[in-house]
Amino acid sequence: MLATVREGWGRSQADLARATGLSPAAVSGIVARLVARGEVSCTTEVSRGRRVRVVSAAAGSEVFAGVDIGRSHARLLVGDGSGRVLEEREQPLAPGHRPTTTLATVRDQLEEMVAGSAGGRVLRAIGVGLPGPLDREHGAVVGGTILPGWVGVPVTTALAPLAADVRVENDANLGALASAAQTGARDLVHVKAGSGLGAGLVVGGRLHPGAGGLAGELGHVAVSDAASAPMCRCGRRGCLETYASTEVLARTLSTVLDRRVPLSRVVAMGASADPIVRRVFDDSAEAVGRGLGILCTLLDPGLVVLGGPLAGLGHRWLQPVRAGFARSALPAVVSHTSIQLSPLGERAEALGALQLARTSVVAAAD
Ligand SMILES: [Zn+2]
Repeated sequence: MLATVREGWGRSQADLARATGLSPAAVSGIVARLVARGEVSCTTEVSRGRRVRVVSAAAGSEVFAGVDIGRSHARLLVGDGSGRVLEEREQPLAPGHRPTTTLATVRDQLEEMVAGSAGGRVLRAIGVGLPGPLDREHGAVVGGTILPGWVGVPVTTALAPLAADVRVENDANLGALASAAQTGARDLVHVKAGSGLGAGLVVGGRLHPGAGGLAGELGHVAVSDAASAPMCRCGRRGCLETYASTEVLARTLSTVLDRRVPLSRVVAMGASADPIVRRVFDDSAEAVGRGLGILCTLLDPGLVVLGGPLAGLGHRWLQPVRAGFARSALPAVVSHTSIQLSPLGERAEALGALQLARTSVVAAAD
């Protein structure tokens, strides 16, 4: 129950009963015990003219950290048990950064942040987001990631001196956790579109990592089987990511504009009025929409939340994604699927990592 409160599936006792399958009376009894232990607090709010008892996780005596490691930066959050962010930092990382150096930087930064913001409280758990497929047993990324130098590196071991619990999760899955908490949706797809293209799936109120942790590898869905289709970093041809990552956009823009477009400029160019540049971005976004059409026709999530740097382009990117989706998905799926930009922006994955840290401790204690 405490994990459900911390995950943010429900705010009222009625929501909690729906999320856990328990009766309202049982929920009421458990909440009363959690209030007595100082684990949650209850307030009364008025919603649509009705009084609703809202349950929130307490700040507690421990702090938690969420870390999102990407190709060009790491975002670090320290928060309390209620989910309130106490401190946040963004650390730029050099292209091709190595795990030894980056993890040492993450350790130093977290130590500083906890010393500065936690008021003497202990760092209890760390959630870490990494791009690409994961080996959960060893807390490491496997082949197909945008961080090839990190394959097989046990991130959990490297951060273990800082906290009793270290959990590693795919970054798009963490974005999905944060989106589910933010929207209250029990079924959704969260897309992270940037250097890579990944999706996190929430099904029936739970993250769906898949049997091998590979669910949601949207970027590696084959959208072309032509012999001339571009090669993907996974070793196959025609993957969606070869049409729709910032790296591919940089290459395509460099070709059509006949000048080198650096990766760091790609997202900013998405706001250009140049019709050639617009076409490159529109084609790429439509390809993402077509991939989502395949995914949603199979999964019927009802809600797709778009995050990552490319979603930062706003409606200019959203509209062609919707157009590609409308062409690709079953019409009945199109009519009841909402495709939205994430209001959490590029913080979604780090917020999900913080949430993973907070809930993993409770889940381990249950
Ligand atoms: Zn691929």
